[in-house]
Amino acid sequence: MGRLEGKVAIVTGSGRGIGKSIARLFIEEGAAVLINDLDEEAAQLTARELQAAGGKVSVVAGNPDGDVTNESSCLRIVEAAREDLGGLHILVNNAGTTLDRVIHKMDDRAWRFILDVNLKGTFLMTKAVYDYFKRQRYGKIVNMSSMAGLGSNIGQANYATSKSAVISFTKSVAIDLAPYNVCVNVLAPGIIDTRLTRAIPSEKWESVTQAIPMGLGRPEHVARVVLGLCSEDFDYVTGQLIVVSGGLII
Ligand code: NAD
Repeated sequence: MGRLEGKVAIVTGSGRGIGKSIARLFIEEGAAVLINDLDEEAAQLTARELQAAGGKVSVVAGNPDGDVTNESSCLRIVEAAREDLGGLHILVNNAGTTLDRVIHKMDDRAWRFILDVNLKGTFLMTKAVYDYFKRQRYGKIVNMSSMAGLGSNIGQANYATSKSAVISFTKSVAIDLAPYNVCVNVLAPGIIDTRLTRAIPSEKWESVTQAIPMGLGRPEHVARVVLGLCSEDFDYVTGQLIVVSGGLII
């Protein structure tokens, strides 16, 4: 019997990277998963792979249907999970991106774009499940912050701001929902090997990854922590930040 048997989960941004790994692990543990991504092709590919492995999935993807910055799309994603998969118990707000610029070259568009995807997307998806989880008196929400939300890196004022706000947002929602048996927690991954980090310039890659005491992180490292938080082992843990950085931040 899997640890998520009978559960239905939404994993945003699950077309690739960390989100895809979470979706795969959830399926292995018995959950049905709504695959969401702005990138339709990536989402459909993930869905086909998971279905071939015997998983129950539904997909809401592409632009604008799969865009977590669009409020009506978020409502539709939640509706699709409930209708196609028969309920909803878990939301993983994983969709996120970067658009690095040093501050004097960062225009309003680059600022707003990152705040929209990383922060507003998390807010809108959370709002879309809020009443349902409250009425159900059960739910697990896991938000994706970043090590950059605790400090920052050159050129990441927009990203760091969005990710640090996700931590405060998580704590506020956790306070609201604790009396309803809904757990809301947040992860801060360090450096995980995905398309996002492969954007780090090649001349910096070696020094950045060599500084990680346990070596470069893999998406499964993060996915396993998300699974733990969504399992009954963590039913009494809410409002917490967990750093998943292989010892980079201690
Ligand atoms: P990734 O680029 O591999 O995957 C992110 C996915 O999100 C992509 O498939 C993308 O299409 C999707 N997405 C982007 N905007 C979206 C939108 N508006 N609506 C729906 N989907 C959207 O990145 P990843 O490394 O897997 O990152 C996943 C999460 O983890 C992000 O929130 C990221 O900020 C966070 N994170 C990653 C790292 C890392 O080292 N990779 C470290 C810290 C935090």
